[in-house]
Amino acid sequence: MGIRLVIILILLVVLYYLGKQVYQLLLGSGKPTDKPGAISAGVDLTQDPVCLTYVSKARAISTKRNGETHYFCSEHCAAEFENRAA
Ligand SMILES: [Zn+2]
Repeated sequence: MGIRLVIILILLVVLYYLGKQVYQLLLGSGKPTDKPGAISAGVDLTQDPVCLTYVSKARAISTKRNGETHYFCSEHCAAEFENRAA
């Protein structure tokens, strides 16, 4: 009798996890997964030299100066950098 109860409990747990995964799959397909502003591991981060904010190179505004690429969080910072260099 005891073993049957254990088997039923294990089955319930397995069914619970399977159901949860199916539920997440169905739910996940309808929802956008990327959160704006979220910093995930593996993102190529660089520091804005003007306001010292960390920005991802993919999203940053970049300007090339003397063969070096500089990254900025906004057009404002890029312009500020140009002003300082001038
Ligand atoms: Zn900035």
